[in-house]
Amino acid sequence: KKITIAIDGFSSTGKSTVAKGLAKKLNYVYVDTGAMYRAVTLYMMRKLFVSDTNFDEEAIIRHLPFVSLKFVFNEQKGFAEMYLNGENVEKEIRYMEVSEQVSKVAAVPEVRKLLVEQQQEMGKEKGVVMDGRDIGTVVFPDAELKIFMTASTEKRAQRRYDELIERGDEVEFDAVLKNVKDRDFMDSTREDSPLIKADDAVEFDNSDLDLQEQF
Ligand code: C5P
Repeated sequence: KKITIAIDGFSSTGKSTVAKGLAKKLNYVYVDTGAMYRAVTLYMMRKLFVSDTNFDEEAIIRHLPFVSLKFVFNEQKGFAEMYLNGENVEKEIRYMEVSEQVSKVAAVPEVRKLLVEQQQEMGKEKGVVMDGRDIGTVVFPDAELKIFMTASTEKRAQRRYDELIERGDEVEFDAVLKNVKDRDFMDSTREDSPLIKADDAVEFDNSDLDLQEQF
């Protein structure tokens, strides 16, 4: 019998690595909800509604109907990539510039409402592993298995930094550390569905666990 697996936690705890691995083992569909918030953010940044100096919430809400998100499975890579209005934005949505704006956009209730609906639709068949910040609390409160992942801030920033460097991005460790801390703060203090552990979630700290041990 297939179930729904909800994985939540702070930024860069390795949720997606565990989620992808589980999905592969179980032959489930993996949904990276962070990619959806990132793609909406990228769209709004391109329109100049969101930047370091500007945040036009009214324009964001007005333009939401023009944002079309789609996951397309890449056979070669073995995972689904994010398409924004038909364009593959998988690489671009991971840039630091987007990471620095995404939690502001994710705090807009209208943005959350739209994406939560799409996520519920994607997971209605069961056999899904979904990761994010509010999956066990809001998107699938009835999920059979809920996991809440944590790890020390330094460990998380180091993993994220290594990942970005490996991709060839030019980033400073301090900027990555600051971003991880900023997003944790904004994600757990926003009014609409803040990041919290669901009462019935299994919590684990993977600071000192390799992937095999986590499985
Ligand atoms: O998972 P990832 O780090 O890519 O998510 C990027 C951002 O998107 C988070 O910092 C958070 O602000 C937002 N997010 C969210 N709810 C989710 C998934 C992501 O608010 N379910």
